[in-house]
Parts: sequence; C-alpha cells; structure tokens
Amino acid sequence: MSKPDFKKIIAHCKEYGYIFQSSEIYDGLSAVYDYGPYGAELKKNIKDYWWTAMVHMQENIVGLDAAIFMHPKTWKASGHVDAFNDPLVDNKDSKKRYRADVLIEDYIANKVDKKINKEIDKAAKRFGDAFDEAQFRATNGRVLQYQEKKDKILERFTAAMSGNDMAEMKQIIEDLEIACPESGSKNWTDVRQFNLMFSTQMGALADGSSKIYLRPETAQGIFVNFLNVQKTTRQKLPFGIAQIGKAFRNEIVARQFIFRMREFEQMEMQFFVQPGTEMKWYEHWKAKRMQWHRAVLPEEKLKFHDHDNLAHYANAALDIEFEFPFGFKELEGIHSRTDFDLGAHQELSGKKLQYFDPEKNESYVPYVVETSIGVDRMFLTIMTNGLIDEEVPDAKGGTAVRTVLKIHPALAPVKLAVLPLLKNKEALTDKARSIFNDLRLDFNCQYDEKDAIGKRYRRQDAIGTPFCVTVDFDTLEDDTVTLRDRDTMEQIRIPISEIKSRISDKTDWRNLLAEF
Ligand code: ATP
Repeated sequence: MSKPDFKKIIAHCKEYGYIFQSSEIYDGLSAVYDYGPYGAELKKNIKDYWWTAMVHMQENIVGLDAAIFMHPKTWKASGHVDAFNDPLVDNKDSKKRYRADVLIEDYIANKVDKKINKEIDKAAKRFGDAFDEAQFRATNGRVLQYQEKKDKILERFTAAMSGNDMAEMKQIIEDLEIACPESGSKNWTDVRQFNLMFSTQMGALADGSSKIYLRPETAQGIFVNFLNVQKTTRQKLPFGIAQIGKAFRNEIVARQFIFRMREFEQMEMQFFVQPGTEMKWYEHWKAKRMQWHRAVLPEEKLKFHDHDNLAHYANAALDIEFEFPFGFKELEGIHSRTDFDLGAHQELSGKKLQYFDPEKNESYVPYVVETSIGVDRMFLTIMTNGLIDEEVPDAKGGTAVRTVLKIHPALAPVKLAVLPLLKNKEALTDKARSIFNDLRLDFNCQYDEKDAIGKRYRRQDAIGTPFCVTVDFDTLEDDTVTLRDRDTMEQIRIPISEIKSRISDKTDWRNLLAEF
C-alpha cells in the first residue's frame, strides 16, 4: 500500500469529477475551484455530517443562513476594515510574493522544531522504554538551546505582529537569513500590510458610500442576528448558532490547491455563554470537535496547536491541525472571542445586544466560544487520507495496483453501484435497473453497464463507492446478488431483499454520531 503524492491526488480529483479548476477553458482563475459531480456529493455529505452533529444533535444549537452581503459598518465594528491584514513581502529576484508571517513560521518549523524532534527521536531510540520526553526536553543542553532560540524568535514575532511593526518583521526575516524557497535569494522588499477583503459596489452609484464587502467569514452574520435568533427560539444561555456558507478572502499566496482558496466555504458555530464560564466551554468544544474529526480521520494525523499570536478578539485560541501532504496545517480554529464582537456591534449600531439572564436578574453581553472549519479543507483531508494505491491479486494469479478511495461509507458520494454482469442481455439489465430504481430513494446509487465487470469495480473503487452489487444469471433464478465490499474486495451472495438494510447499516450517521 502506498500514498499517492499531492500532484497525483490533484490529478485524481480532476480525472474522476471531484474538482476542476474554475474557468479552465480560459486558463483558470487562481485559487478558485469548481466541484464536479462527485465533489458536489462529497461536499454535501461533509456539510450534512457537520450540521447533524452541531445542530440536530445539540438541543441548544440552532441554524442560520445569513446573506453574504452585510452592511459595511459590520466590518468596521468587527475590526476587519482596520485589521484583517496579512503582512506581505516580495522577493526582488524571483518576483515571488510571500506572507512574511508564514516565512517566519516555516523557518521555526523547519530549522528549529525539526532539530528538536531529531534529538528527541535519537534519544528515544537510545533509551527505549525508559525514555522520559518531558525530562529530556527540560534537561538536554542542545534541546534547551534550540528551545531558547525558538522562544526568542516567537517573542519578537508576536510583538511585531501585535504592534503592527512591519519594519521589525523585515528585520526578523533578515536576521534569520530566510531565503526565498523558490530562488534561494535573500533580496526582500519591505514588508507591508495587505487587507484581505474583496470589495464591490452596491446599486448604481459608484461612489465611496456604496462600497460593500464580500464577507471574509460567516461569523458576523451570526453576531448581528444574535437577538433575533435568541428571542424567536426562546433559547437560554448557554446556546449556539451554527451556519454554513461562502466566505471570500483575497489571499496573498494561494498555491496549495483547495487548502487556501479565494472563494471558500465555512462551517461556523458561535456558542454564547455567561462571562466567566468561557474557558469551561472552550475546553468542551475543543474535545467535541476533536471527537468529530477522529470519527473519520486517523488520530495520529490530528493534533492541537495553541496560538502563539492571539487575534485581536480572542482570549484563548487553538487550531486543530491535520497532517496534509505538505505537513501539519490548520484544519479548524477554536477561539474564545470574549464579548468583543457583540460589544463592538452594540457600540457602533447603538442597539443593545444583551441577554437578560432570568437567574441573575440582570442583562449583559454574553461571551462567545467559536468553532470554525473550512468545508474545503475538510474535503482535502478526506481525499488525501482516503486515496491509496494498493497491490491486489489480478485475474491471472499475479498482482496489480488498484487506486482506491477509502472514505467512510457515510461520507461516500455514491453508496451503491448496481452492475448487470453483461450489458447486452436484456433480462440482466432489466433486473439491475429495477433494483437500482427501488433503492435510489434510500441512498445515492449508480447504475453502470459499460465495460467489463472488473473495470467497473475499479472505477467505483476510484470514486470511493463502498458497495457494488452484481446482477448475474443466478439472480434471475433465485433473486440473489453478489455484494462486493470496496475495502476488503470480499464478495458474498445475499438476497435482493437484504441489500437495503446492509447498506443502510454501514452508511448511517449513527456509526459516526451515536456518541456525539
Ligand atoms: P490561515 O491561518 O490558514 O490563513 P485563518 O486562521 O485565517 O487560516 P480562520 O479565520 O480561523 O482561518 O478561518 C477558519 C477556517 O476557515 C480555517 O480553519 C480554515 O479551515 C478555513 N479557511 C480559512 N481561510 C481559508 C481559505 N483561504 N481557503 C480555504 N479555507 C480557509
């Protein structure tokens, strides 16, 4: 078994109708992608998985579908007009553009963390079971030196970012002798801030007063509707509002397929709590969200990463990271946002955004704990984790390689393929079609009669279909079919009447969410 590299994953997504470059016939639009027939199904299933877990399974969370366009003052209050910036730097020789913060973070990961980990691996091998990592980290001279170096860089970096000191950001890049990953050149421009919001004009007037933004996050639609939702659903604190929707960011560097896009989709939940209880809920959602990921992704590819550099609105923040083909990177953010957003909207709008607490008999602005994940990033984890090349026996007694997308059956775009053994025998195709027609209301099924049966199995493996049933001449006699399992390739004979319950058992959300 081997893992295809990132290029092959991207090619697979295109070849099998998962993802296409946007406007491909015009040479594409950078960092914008279209989801093909199977991609649209998988994306919908990911969203359903999240919505079922976060809304239907939670008595105190309700859904919302707010508009993409919002009053421009929204983005003034939220801080996005003044502070939703990334520090940008160009390399004068390669003409490549980078995010200065990412250059520094990558330096720490590649030049410092890697060395620390190497020392730890070496020692772990030497000491075997007796190895105590915490003690080694606290006492080993070399590790302490690297750690001190890291702490010093982080201290300068955090101060420069929060103080908006772009000259210091450039100085850090120069002091660390960071080179352009493309050309190796250290010839950098000054670092400058770049606002990531897209703007456009509303209505016919093209003056400054009609300027509006495409939302860079879905969260603000939740904040401005906080009281509408609370009053109409009679929720008591703590309660949450969840939303799935498009967001837009004019990203400086967008080179990693659907990892960083300029138009993407978010699944966000804001949980409103009594001030002073936010850390308890932060821990609660941290654990819950990890549980949600671990149900469909391997534990060793997921980890928490506490933020070194807190956003202007947060008093605690962490990322859930996944090991993408290009390393551990953010998949989801969990932030304790205090009363920053509601407080700011209250001030700028002049409208009260307070909750009357019947137990305390007082009104206050609630605190917020947020969980925020990109649908597209989740899609990428499912694709990169699920796609494998596997050696299998071939028909002639040798071996062949099959490409199979092993994703959880509940998320798979097509649950069942119904295949007549031969396409030119009407009795077989009629029977297969009647099974297909009977089951398509229960789950997404596909009917396929083109090519030899082995080739059809491979095609279903490649799109991740967990089950195939084959209709053959025995089916006409005894109403049984062959059921093939994608992962084990095992084939068993079952009555037609059992297909539905067997597939439903494996594709049911209960398999993922019974304990949620
Ligand atoms: P990053 O540090 O990677 O730029 P961020 O910290 O700005 O991400 P958040 O503002 O916390 O991201 O957004 C929440 C989630 O939205 C992220 O965890 C990610 O899954 C998703 N997301 C953010 N930006 C993008 C993007 N440009 N393309 C795809 N998904 C994105």
